[in-house]
Amino acid sequence: MRELHNIGWYANKISPKLPKSAFKPVPSRLFGGLAYTLIIVCGILAINLLEFNYLIKFLISLVLGFSFASIGFLGHEILHGTVVKTHWLKNLLGGIAFMPLSIGPQLWIKWHNMSHHANTQHELNDPDAWMSFEQFNNRTFIKYIYKLPLLFRSLFSFTALTISFTLHGTRMFFIYSKELKKEKNLRLWIQFILPWIIWIGLFFLLETEKWIFSYLIPFFIGNFIVMCYISTNHRLNPLVPINDPLANSLSVTVPKWLDILHFNFSYHTEHHLFPGINPKYYALVKGEILKLWPDKYHQMPLGSALKLLWNTPRIYYNNKELIDPKNRRVYNSLENGLSADNISYHIYKHIS
Ligand SMILES: [Zn+2]
Ligand SMILES: [Zn+2]
Repeated sequence: MRELHNIGWYANKISPKLPKSAFKPVPSRLFGGLAYTLIIVCGILAINLLEFNYLIKFLISLVLGFSFASIGFLGHEILHGTVVKTHWLKNLLGGIAFMPLSIGPQLWIKWHNMSHHANTQHELNDPDAWMSFEQFNNRTFIKYIYKLPLLFRSLFSFTALTISFTLHGTRMFFIYSKELKKEKNLRLWIQFILPWIIWIGLFFLLETEKWIFSYLIPFFIGNFIVMCYISTNHRLNPLVPINDPLANSLSVTVPKWLDILHFNFSYHTEHHLFPGINPKYYALVKGEILKLWPDKYHQMPLGSALKLLWNTPRIYYNNKELIDPKNRRVYNSLENGLSADNISYHIYKHIS
């Protein structure tokens, strides 16, 4: 693997090129959140108060699901402190924005900001990193899944994207709730339970069919959309001992209108370099990266990244490759030659 550098090494070279305004919080981004909140409230009211046929109800569910994901992207931004600085307001707004996906703000900050950002693609310390071959050998359920052919595994894992975000968040909640002291733990529990009280409460309040269109289908769609980005952020990159955002992250490209609606979440390498700046400036950061380190930067269209995910296994071998234990195929990662038009593998003969 090439020489790795930490975040500061890159950020120091790009920071002088960014205007001071990039580092200031931007409360006006909340207008986007307000718009999505209104869409969600109106959508839920429309499904429950008006009589529509199934097609119209499903179309409203699609809009709701898209809004669940989009407001979640804003929640991510808010909880990085790029929208408002006041601590309690940041947590309140972040909590509201993540409510559709049932993730509490304190949990998110600990899981995402403090663990994932600080230890990205570290084999043991990044809670979002996929397992190594050694870890795989101790995981009974995953070993069972890996007995299936790649096509079925991909079908299974892509279907699971409809719940993965909330499911992984719930797993993180139970891990962290054991670690925290009493007072912080109580807050974590309240923030965890509150969204579920609302969504399960609505189940008892609304007709079941209307609840399915108002919440359940949008929940699956919202999870799927956020996971389409999240699963491509790092899973095609190698595991790394040094948190090098150019080596361990992938930025995907999407149409401009989608970047606007998703708050520029596609610029993930830029986000890891500068998680505290206004995402409006990510395009500028990208321009500077491409000037300084064009060969180190990884980017591709979102569709191509998903296609690569579909066609490669998720177990790391020697940190830099991906291995399919079923047929002993070892694939390159993005740092070692994997690209949208080159999915090559070799057969490894000495795996027991
Ligand atoms: Zn990330
Ligand atoms: Zn982040």
